[in-house]
Amino acid sequence: MKVSPIKVEILKILRFENIHLTADAIYIKLKGLIPRVSLASVYRNLELLCESGDARKITIEGNAARYESWKGDHFHIHCTVCGRIEDVALDNSIVKELNKIGRLYGYRSASLKIDFFGVCDTCNKKKDLR
Ligand SMILES: [Zn+2]
Ligand SMILES: [Zn+2]
Repeated sequence: MKVSPIKVEILKILRFENIHLTADAIYIKLKGLIPRVSLASVYRNLELLCESGDARKITIEGNAARYESWKGDHFHIHCTVCGRIEDVALDNSIVKELNKIGRLYGYRSASLKIDFFGVCDTCNKKKDLR
């Protein structure tokens, strides 16, 4: 299998940063390593990484899509002020319980999408200073 160096570098960035990055942020970081890279090829390679399960795309209405390297099932909490995203780990029993809902309504292979929203600690502190 021929591996695209762009794909490899993107995955390295995602794994190293271990946070949720926009395609633009990845592009800027990648440009330092591969000056000829285009934003379009960053998008294309991100899609490939998501298809192969190496990365995951996080889409929240009103925000640019973020990407992260695959690190197992988890949920996200979003700051409605600064837009930061953090990982949220939910107890397995809660997830299991929620997953029953689809079956309860007669749906097969129903999936679960939960997003949490709030104002993060940093933004809260800024507000207090005003
Ligand atoms: Zn914030
Ligand atoms: Zn995450």
